[in-house]
Amino acid sequence: MLDFAKGDGLIPVVIQDDQTLEVLMLGYMNQEAWEKTEREGRVTFYSRSKNRLWTKGEESGNFLKVVSAHIDCDQDTLLIKVVPAGPTCHTGARSCFQTAYNQNFLLQLERIIQNRYDEPSDESYVNRLRQRGLNKIAQKVGEEAVETVIAALAETEHDFINESSDLLFHLLVLLREKGLGLQTIAKNLESRHQ
Ligand code: AMP
Ligand code: ZN
Ligand code: ZN
Ligand code: ZN
Repeated sequence: MLDFAKGDGLIPVVIQDDQTLEVLMLGYMNQEAWEKTEREGRVTFYSRSKNRLWTKGEESGNFLKVVSAHIDCDQDTLLIKVVPAGPTCHTGARSCFQTAYNQNFLLQLERIIQNRYDEPSDESYVNRLRQRGLNKIAQKVGEEAVETVIAALAETEHDFINESSDLLFHLLVLLREKGLGLQTIAKNLESRHQ
């Protein structure tokens, strides 16, 4: 049970991107806002400046689709993981916290690859790779793995960094092609760790 009494009827709510783990914004909810959020599966705050319920995205269309909600240890704060329909900040930035961009870029890149799958274009390398099929993508991962090994043993750090980047990038595409993502791999690794 959420404890709204402690904060004069309002609790702070941290909004996190479920896929990239970016902290997108912070808002407040009263009981009514929380119930509406649960009912509709998208985030409604209580706006202290508007003095009313505020569904994020009501004007911009940039709604926050709820994936999961987590109550903190003493029931007075919420963490909500979302899929954002567009930029969350009213400035047009993905996050209200500008520092978030380069952290977790691998997760960001995974999202970019997903976007290329959703909206194919001829200029997209990801899309051209995809057109050539699963065999080709898997083969590229193999090639980049070999290049990474060679660079690790024989060449400069610069080459090793580049080949490792190629390897990770193509592995992300292969995972996408197989309908998987880094979260599945991370969960699997975690389950092995005793
Ligand atoms: P929206 O909810 O995206 O339709 O935006 C409607 C209005 O809410 C904007 O004009 C801003 O005044 C305000 N707003 C939107 N996004 C944010 C945000 N991330 N933080 C604070 N205020 C916001
Ligand atoms: Zn707390
Ligand atoms: Zn903002
Ligand atoms: Zn390479």
